[in-house]
Amino acid sequence: MDFDAVFQSQLDTLKAEGNYRIFAEMERSAGCYPRAVNHGPGGARDVTVWCSNDYLGMGQHPDVVNAMIDATRANGTGAGGTRNISGTNRHHIALEHELADLHGKDAALLFTSGYVSNWAALGTLGARLPNAVILSDALNHASMIEGIRHSRAPKAIWKHNDPEDLNRKLAALPPETTKIVAFESVYSMDGDIAPIAEICDVAEAHGAMTYIDEVHAVGMYGPRGGGVAEELGVMDRITLIEGTLGKAFGCFGGYITGSAALCDFIRSFASGFIFTTALPPSVAAAAQTSIAHLKVSGDERRRQREQVAKLRARLDFYGIPHLDNPSHIIPVMIGDAVKTRLICDILMRDFGIYVQPINYPTVPRGTERLRLTPGPFHTDSDIEHLCRALNSLWQQCALARQVA
Ligand SMILES: *Cc1c(COP(=O)(O)O)cnc(C)c1O
Repeated sequence: MDFDAVFQSQLDTLKAEGNYRIFAEMERSAGCYPRAVNHGPGGARDVTVWCSNDYLGMGQHPDVVNAMIDATRANGTGAGGTRNISGTNRHHIALEHELADLHGKDAALLFTSGYVSNWAALGTLGARLPNAVILSDALNHASMIEGIRHSRAPKAIWKHNDPEDLNRKLAALPPETTKIVAFESVYSMDGDIAPIAEICDVAEAHGAMTYIDEVHAVGMYGPRGGGVAEELGVMDRITLIEGTLGKAFGCFGGYITGSAALCDFIRSFASGFIFTTALPPSVAAAAQTSIAHLKVSGDERRRQREQVAKLRARLDFYGIPHLDNPSHIIPVMIGDAVKTRLICDILMRDFGIYVQPINYPTVPRGTERLRLTPGPFHTDSDIEHLCRALNSLWQQCALARQVA
């Protein structure tokens, strides 16, 4: 069999649909973010990044950078083992304490990514709790879906952000089932936010455990950056809070927080925790510095919110359609994979603006979009440059306008 021909024909289908993914080769410049260098076909050029999940620029914060350098000098590069076999460093333990404190929980457990934390935690809960049924929001992230699938527990999918539908689905389950309600706070692609308190009301009424992914909210919401649940004062009503160190905290890795027994349970049974090398101590040290900083500093969040509001207002001024939502994520809807790709290519080539096309399977076909994430370091003139560029593209590509 000509395996390569099989691979190529499937790749050709992706290309014909406009869904083939082309990575932009970037070189981030610490200290100048959101400025970066793009290494493209025409050589290297300076661009402004508009699609990063380093939402607050913490990946270049001098204290965070220095923490990583100092810990590397002190501890070397890698952890040297799994957590069980020689890989547990003092920095892991300190970071777990920092995280438990951030979310007001007894304990926390680190993973090598947010993806792995969802996959491992949901996989283990669904597989090990007696008669477990997982009630999953319809728009949950791929990592949660894979964890649920891996657990082999039966699942019920409830309508996105709809506590009434969740209530119906919970009521339909036999009383002897262990019910796990899994959802997110800020949804990454639409930027909408779950009605967390209402979901907790419903879950509590049915004796269900609550599992929330706050990946896009940690560092960003709440007085100490504990997420939307902190902002709403409902952290104590959530059984398990999951997050990442790779987005607003500007580092790398994932985690869960919850009761001491819950974290010990996952630590003891989750294959995705046990059989993998621990995070480098330097990454743990940097993440802890970033979290500690954002617990006491609201400046980054405040400035970021100002720039989000300014960008929305300027998009409205130019009639560029964007989804209205209460978060920091601004989806600009195009609805066509080929056009989205084209627009992104022109933005990079002619305007020095880097926005990655968001296409299937990240979002449903026909809802292809740009996903803009303004940060505290985007200037007003960056915003104006972006909006003028989009305006001229909307003219060139005959795209629909939003009528105010
Ligand atoms: C990015 C993301 C993850 C995975 O986190 P990583 O640390 O990047 O692996 C999990 N959940 C959601 C909703 C995400 O967007």
